[in-house]
Amino acid sequence: MKHDFQVAIIGGGIGGAALARSLDRLGIDYHMFERASALSEVGAGVQMTPNAVKVLEALGLGPDLAAAGFLPEAMVGWNWQSGEELFRTPLREVCPRVFGAEFYHVHRADLHTMLAKDIAPERITFGVSCTGLRQQAGRTIACFDDGSEYAADLVVGADGVRSAVRAALWGQEPASYTGHMCWRALVPVEQFPLPFVTPTSAFWMGPKGHVVTYYVKGGAMVNIVAVNENHDWVEESWTIKSSRQELLDGFAGWNDNLIRLFELTNPDQIYKWGLFDRDPMQRWSRGNATLLGDAAHPMLPFLSQGAAMAVEDGYVLAQALSHFGPGDLGAALDAYEAERRPRTTRVQLEARERGRTYHLSSPEESKARDLAFKLEQAKNPNAVGIKAEWVYQYDARTCRDRFGKSPALSAAS
Ligand SMILES: Cc1cc2nc3c(=O)[nH]c(=O)nc-3n(C[C@H](O)[C@H](O)[C@H](O)COP(=O)(O)OP(=O)(O)OC[C@H]3O[C@@H](n4cnc5c(N)ncnc54)[C@H](O)[C@@H]3O)c2cc1C
Repeated sequence: MKHDFQVAIIGGGIGGAALARSLDRLGIDYHMFERASALSEVGAGVQMTPNAVKVLEALGLGPDLAAAGFLPEAMVGWNWQSGEELFRTPLREVCPRVFGAEFYHVHRADLHTMLAKDIAPERITFGVSCTGLRQQAGRTIACFDDGSEYAADLVVGADGVRSAVRAALWGQEPASYTGHMCWRALVPVEQFPLPFVTPTSAFWMGPKGHVVTYYVKGGAMVNIVAVNENHDWVEESWTIKSSRQELLDGFAGWNDNLIRLFELTNPDQIYKWGLFDRDPMQRWSRGNATLLGDAAHPMLPFLSQGAAMAVEDGYVLAQALSHFGPGDLGAALDAYEAERRPRTTRVQLEARERGRTYHLSSPEESKARDLAFKLEQAKNPNAVGIKAEWVYQYDARTCRDRFGKSPALSAAS
């Protein structure tokens, strides 16, 4: 049975696609609007930590994930120069047992493809950019750059870090450059033997920088995310081309294995972006409109949770709409925010803090940090070196238990 309720999803990225799939499975009607001419994703890896994997499994994507993903043995911290091991947190064996799901490395395009694979073509309008919203007779009208409009019972801004929906609801949110520059690149394993790249989530920490490497595409490629501090950057974009030389120059003096890996990157596919930060919002929803993913809580990538939070948001929002039904949108949006905002706020703030601790440059401070890793490890061998257990433990699948006792829709899941 279909609910008599229409959702307009603005943006067909990872969060928008997760919401669409979640609504579909609950029989709630939606239409998606994407400014690009097709659904696509940038070539880069993404870490799907157990909290996100629980949602993907609930959405029926366990087999897709197993086929496309890579299961790292452990998360391992290394000294940037000597390669000394700073911590080792087992993942493959521990995550299902301790956190209730696997920890996968996935190519972003593979993740996006699985989330969007069942969206019927007639449910998406491509090539239109949302420019604003207006209210009319209890509905929200989304306005687009081609002059078209669309009336919905709920408009969801899943339109990313520079969200037009967020600006329409809450005004332009100023972003500040964090002083962090980030490169991303992929190395095709079939082309080069990489015996020096271990099957782990590898975390190299150095003065004013850190590098994360891991396998994606079932082990066919190695993904590189390399961050260092550079105070001159101004542009917030993920798609600016860089060069192999610029990447090498940014990490001169780092461990030989890392430099060897950088030397094998495809020079045409090295991108750089400046990391911008925004404060957590006090409220996401207004009238018949709300936000999810980066539109609601843009975050630094230092806890690897941007995509995971967008997936959790999409799932929980759909569950709230189904639970409270079309007659009580206010309660549904309140429940959605009550479930999601405290969690995403904490992730935003802790990711910001990690930018400092990963990059300590005084030898005393970094020694103290490395010793703390060792002590923590001795106390609990399963403790995650980046202290993210609380992130991984969360289970969005039980969100309905926390929504309270309000009436549920009969057709709910
Ligand atoms: C290199 C890199 C590595 C990352 N690694 C990780 C990781 O390991 N783990 C992790 O969890 N996160 C990671 N992230 C962050 C994560 O990818 C983002 O947080 C996530 O993609 C947010 O999803 P979203 O759907 O909210 O936004 P987006 O993915 O940005 O999607 C927004 C969509 O909206 C569309 N759009 C924008 N404006 C409009 C408009 N006005 N009208 C219509 N459509 C519009 C866009 O075209 C896009 O399709 C990484 C990001 C990068 C760049």
